[in-house]
Amino acid sequence: MTSSSFRHVFPANGSVFREGDAGDCAYIVERGRVEIRGDVDGKSVVLATRGAGEMFGEMALIDRKPRTASAVAIEECELLVVSHEQLTAYLDQADPIMKMLLGVILERFRSTLKALREGSFANGDLASAETADSERELARQHGNAVERIKLVQELEEALEKDQFELHYQPLISMSSPEVYGFESLIRWRHPERGLVSPALFIPAAEQSGLIVPIGRWTFRQACRAMSGFREAVDGADSFSGKLAIGVNISGREFSEPGFLNGVSDGIDEFGIDPGYVTLEITESLLMDKPEVAAIALDKCKDLGVRVAIDDFGTGYSSLSYLHRFPIDILKIDQSFVGSMLHDDGSREIVNSIVSLARGLRMRIVAEGIEEQDQHTALRDLGCNYAQGYLHSRPLPGEQATAFLQEWYGAARGA
Ligand code: C2E
Ligand code: CA
Ligand code: CA
Repeated sequence: MTSSSFRHVFPANGSVFREGDAGDCAYIVERGRVEIRGDVDGKSVVLATRGAGEMFGEMALIDRKPRTASAVAIEECELLVVSHEQLTAYLDQADPIMKMLLGVILERFRSTLKALREGSFANGDLASAETADSERELARQHGNAVERIKLVQELEEALEKDQFELHYQPLISMSSPEVYGFESLIRWRHPERGLVSPALFIPAAEQSGLIVPIGRWTFRQACRAMSGFREAVDGADSFSGKLAIGVNISGREFSEPGFLNGVSDGIDEFGIDPGYVTLEITESLLMDKPEVAAIALDKCKDLGVRVAIDDFGTGYSSLSYLHRFPIDILKIDQSFVGSMLHDDGSREIVNSIVSLARGLRMRIVAEGIEEQDQHTALRDLGCNYAQGYLHSRPLPGEQATAFLQEWYGAARGA
């Protein structure tokens, strides 16, 4: 046998591996043919033949169990070696559900083979502690993946049965006694679990692609609510007639070809001024595919909608990119706001974000304001809008309307 670390040549009748060997690599046949053999009822049986371009020995590589068959060159063969490291690099990138399915298929295949051989694997290696560990790990992955699959199915059902609702958190102007607008935040009214937080289902919706129809529903619903809010306070003396609505948009939606059509349809249907619609996106959305983001953002500009970067300061924005994108608003992440009064580092970060935003002529929202002192400090630094529990928690539609009416009623009476 001649060999290098990635190419082996086997003579006719040469053994490539034997049943029970450690499965540390797979092979691709470059030239020649290989027989895969196994013992059935004490007799060596040919299970398969592999020729040029075909792979074998990959099973043991994927689940790291001993070889369950032997491979013999039936003529001189040249084989390419696929290492465990190469394969795991691919597997690591694979979707967790695909990984789980692969594990299940391998497990089923092995148990079929085992049954076929009438218990010849019942003891020995397969009963080892290592095998028990890997089976427990497989069961755990299986459990997680099954939970994920169930969640995605439930989300699909939720969309069909209209179980999502939007809540609205006010954004207060720092320089005048005005409600600048609301951020819409999705919730899932689960028939048994009650109100479910977006943190528990948005990641699964993003991964499965369901975020696209959910996002379409959300945007339309936010536009509908906005026209209702405006009507509810229209005519109040101190109401300027301006009210903004923010909608969270995930990367998957943003890169969807029909996304901007959905935005312009919602705006047209409810007669919303696009200048008061803010799409909240994240830094990672910009940085992952800057060219795609730049094109989509230009189209947003053409539509006249605003764009805000959410959770600013927590991602990995390259400042050199920031000025190239048409961004209107930076939302300072609540983690900095929460600690700025007792942590010099956070205060300095907030300071820097504010001067950066001002330099780039962007407006600034401070998120997560829970205390009056935070509000005052952020206003003094030059933030434009305040959002947080100090002013209001996110409210269901009717309560958001009442909040506005009370605000402008009180302002009118003042
Ligand atoms: P986000 O966009 O950063 O939204 C702000 C979150 O902070 C909201 O959590 C809000 O309830 C919470 N919050 C507001 N003020 C305060 C405060 O003073 N203190 C504290 N501790 N928290 C405050 P929520 O509603 O649970 O949403 C979590 C995340 O889920 C959102 O973070 C957003 O990333 C995502 N999300 C929510 N709705 C949607 C949606 O319609 N579409 C998409 N794609 N994502 C959404
Ligand atoms: Ca947001
Ligand atoms: Ca945020």
